[in-house]
Amino acid sequence: MRGLDIVVKGIVQGVGFRPFVYQLAKSLNLNGTVKNSSSGVYIHLEGTNHNIALFLDELRTHPPRLSKIEEILIDPSTAAGHTSFTIQGSTFEEQAITLVSPDIAVCPDCLNDINNVNENRRFHYAFTNCTNCGPRFSIIKHLPYDRPYTTMQTFNMCPSCQSEYENPLDRRFHAQPTCCSTCGPSLSLLDHKGIPLSATDPVAKTRALIKAGYIIAVKGLGGFHLICDGTSYKAAETLRHRKHRKTKPLALMMKNLGTVRKYCCLNTKEEEILLGNKKPILLLKKKNELLPYNISFDNHYLGIMLPYTPLHSMLFDETLSVLIATSANHSGMPMLFRNEEALGELADIADYFLMHNRDIHIPVDDSVVKVILGEERVIRPARGYAPFNIHFNSNGVLAVGSELKNTFCLSKQNYCFMSQYIGDMSIVETLEHFIHNVNHFKSLYNINPNLIVYDYHPSFSYQDYLDKLSGYKVGTFHHHAHIASCLAENNVKESVIGIAFDGVGYGEDGKTWGSEFLICNTKEFKRVGHLSYFKMPGGDMAAIWPWRMAASLLYETFDDALEDVLPYYLTTKPIKPVLAMLKSNISCPLGCSMGRLFDAVAALLGFDDKVSYEAEAAVYLENLALSSMDTDCVYHYNLQKINGVWIIDYISIIKEIIYDLQNDTLHTFISRKFHNTLCAASAALCLELRKSYDINKVALSGGVFQNELLLTHLYDLLNKNDFEVFTHKLIPCNDSGLSLGQLVIASELTRK
Ligand code: ZN
Ligand code: ZN
Ligand code: FE
Repeated sequence: MRGLDIVVKGIVQGVGFRPFVYQLAKSLNLNGTVKNSSSGVYIHLEGTNHNIALFLDELRTHPPRLSKIEEILIDPSTAAGHTSFTIQGSTFEEQAITLVSPDIAVCPDCLNDINNVNENRRFHYAFTNCTNCGPRFSIIKHLPYDRPYTTMQTFNMCPSCQSEYENPLDRRFHAQPTCCSTCGPSLSLLDHKGIPLSATDPVAKTRALIKAGYIIAVKGLGGFHLICDGTSYKAAETLRHRKHRKTKPLALMMKNLGTVRKYCCLNTKEEEILLGNKKPILLLKKKNELLPYNISFDNHYLGIMLPYTPLHSMLFDETLSVLIATSANHSGMPMLFRNEEALGELADIADYFLMHNRDIHIPVDDSVVKVILGEERVIRPARGYAPFNIHFNSNGVLAVGSELKNTFCLSKQNYCFMSQYIGDMSIVETLEHFIHNVNHFKSLYNINPNLIVYDYHPSFSYQDYLDKLSGYKVGTFHHHAHIASCLAENNVKESVIGIAFDGVGYGEDGKTWGSEFLICNTKEFKRVGHLSYFKMPGGDMAAIWPWRMAASLLYETFDDALEDVLPYYLTTKPIKPVLAMLKSNISCPLGCSMGRLFDAVAALLGFDDKVSYEAEAAVYLENLALSSMDTDCVYHYNLQKINGVWIIDYISIIKEIIYDLQNDTLHTFISRKFHNTLCAASAALCLELRKSYDINKVALSGGVFQNELLLTHLYDLLNKNDFEVFTHKLIPCNDSGLSLGQLVIASELTRK
């Protein structure tokens, strides 16, 4: 007989850890105790050596499915003579770290419950959950994670729920949000004026309304969706019209895997993600054109998720298997999550509201992911993924992230906590949402940052907020932060060749960077290469109207002969005034952003409209390339070392694109060739840098690498040349990943 103290750290609370320990100990005739504390799960065991060894083995190899064990600390102790195994109350320590679990999609057992007529209390009950599933992050007000500190506090458990909650052998033992139709939240269906409809079954009524072509605002786990029939062109058109959403693809929710297979190509990795417990929006290649064209137009991909709450799963039936499910907000604004606000804000978009009385404390959007090179890549980190944590030697730092696609990051005792996707900070409501969330994270994790990190860009919207914060402040350069986040994610300590391709980032020389080759680590960087600078006529206007960028590069390439080579679809544009701007160099800031080069080429290949969502022109260009036949063709590019910095000159590329256009080469082929050229030039530059710096590791970051073709092709080229290549997976390559990069740079810079 001996005694043992065990501490298990990681995501071990709210995931059925204590009942698991209880049952395991019982089955092995071990006595002792288990309890939650803010620093982990504490276990005291007494029994034979053999059985204790079996216990530890099982703990390591088969912990509860949702848990994520980071550390198991084991200490011999005396056997105090326990005669049974008991679960004790939680304790809370001020300084300890507790990891907060993201929200978890409904589990198969709970789905069975809601479909089982014999489950009186949970048959068709929309808020069914258990220890293995349900809301977490979105309902937690503060820690420890106990019901009184969640938005479930207003619902008193009925005796049946209470006894399940107290029974260590029950699936709902200590499931904080557990409830049933007798005691839990309830649904209501209202018209667009907020007047309740008298429906005995609001979900059945909602299905009927969806089938009749109406748009319903549905309150889910992290906020409201606008939902309508995904097989109806007219419904999609109405939604687009009312939401002023011209072309951005609409996300779909599908009934099950079988439905997804009908419309999309699926590999095993993608199936695994769809069926997993995070249930993000997964970007999948379209298999056919069976769905209405206006869902995603010429895009090769569809954004698909499976139902992730009981309520969502009940919206489907035999004749309804595809729903459009887009976040309910006005373009660019935060997702709506409060009933009253939704009723007010969405009255002109939604025909009806299906809502409930369980409050959402922290709104969380749907996450977006894509599988590239066989790996899941997060594009928007939100529900199911946030809060995300990573180990890095840092303490008490707040990194405020980027202007677009904002997230922020906080550190404490070598943990970095990255927030969910916050959004576009230039919108006042989003900035307020950001501040609210920073404060929430500070109190949730009990962090009082003394070091604040920001992007050097002088006109980011958080300037006023920064001014009010006390603490030491450190600025970082955008593209260094991109690469640093990739290095932190991949745990790379050495110097690398960093390639940061993106839209806009403020550079050391005050110009707009975005095609950077850096020799860097997580502390310092040196810029060693980039595209040659071009003029961006009208500054921000050039990012909104890609034809302006085309005009600029054509002028650079052909001078006054520009108008002779203009593709016909651009001849209707007001080229003359832009030409005048370029000639007199008025309002033409310089930049080398890869995003703007993509815009220019997209315009040359027929994208003649205004960009209605970020990177739309680049997406257009990628989709053209995806439609092309396979080719290794490249345009000539010019690599030149000027004042110690390598410059990739685009002049010959533009010249040859125009030549191809004049010779009626397919746009798809030109786009493919353009992609190949960038990859070839990048790989060639890496070879030069390897010669000079003797560095063989390459890190790829920046939003342009969301482009699957570019990422895979460059990755292959670098691999063939024996480079070790690091890419993003759980941390987005786009600006949502920036906060982590900022945090690690500042932590390194201030390390004593
Ligand atoms: Zn469950
Ligand atoms: Zn109940
Ligand atoms: Fe960026």
